[in-house]
Amino acid sequence: MRCRCGRKAVYHRRQSGQQLCAICFSKSIHSKFRKTIRAHNYVEKGDTIAVGLSGGKDSTVLLHLLSDLKKDRPFEMEAIIIDEGISTYREKTIEVAIKNCEILGVEYHIYSFEKEFGVTIDACDSRVCSHCSFCGVLRRNLLNQKARELGAKKLAVGLNLDDEVQSVLMNFLRGDLFRFGRTGPSYTESPYFVPRIKPLRDILEKEVMLYAILSKIHVDHSVCPYASEAFRGDIRDFLDRMESKRPTTKYSLLRSYDRLAPYLQEQFTSTISLCSQCGEPTIDTICKTCSMLNTIKKMKER
Ligand SMILES: [Zn+2]
Ligand SMILES: [Zn+2]
Repeated sequence: MRCRCGRKAVYHRRQSGQQLCAICFSKSIHSKFRKTIRAHNYVEKGDTIAVGLSGGKDSTVLLHLLSDLKKDRPFEMEAIIIDEGISTYREKTIEVAIKNCEILGVEYHIYSFEKEFGVTIDACDSRVCSHCSFCGVLRRNLLNQKARELGAKKLAVGLNLDDEVQSVLMNFLRGDLFRFGRTGPSYTESPYFVPRIKPLRDILEKEVMLYAILSKIHVDHSVCPYASEAFRGDIRDFLDRMESKRPTTKYSLLRSYDRLAPYLQEQFTSTISLCSQCGEPTIDTICKTCSMLNTIKKMKER
């Protein structure tokens, strides 16, 4: 098959029916990325953007695309690398993350769960909660805290379209309407939360992967050893099955959701207060991080 430009096609974009060569495919990723940035005012002149960098394909591609964008508009960028304490897996990905920062000349900061919270994910007791939800809560907390301390205007995270639609369905199925309304593209200014931006949210996971391969970006492909225990895995399988029959499934779901999100946010609001234990923002008296850490401490004492 041939691309529109006459070169040999390397990718069939099923949702649009296009056959794309490597060059046209990469161009399309750049233009999708920039379109998302423009649509939501994700990057403004003079911004300092903290990038949550894991060394995996998504956040690494995000770092490269933002570096490319920097050539055209002035903004500052720094990377935050988190060591969750997952042996054999994290050492490798951190090495890759650092290497990419060095290649692109991006300043980076590394923080560990062990030093900040006194725990590692390996040591987490799975009777308290799944490794994934514990890790997710702690990482979100630490990324926000460190981005705020670095004086970042926004926190860029490497969530792709698949991640977004999985989160939408998960929150819906759990009946968590507060979070269901907050998976959207927009961000709100707050003194406690550094607004999270998701410039890859319109790009399919497999396209992020292909872009990394075609651009010869060094990423780590290893999968987290705890990934299989998540509810997310079932939702992912379901969405992939739907998409293989109807190639526009994920796009349509995201579009429908984005139109609903502003109404949901208006309906399901909560007041933000500060955690009585650690002082970080929360919608309860004690934040999720502290309540999980407290339970783990109690289990250990038993
Ligand atoms: Zn082409
Ligand atoms: Zn707390």
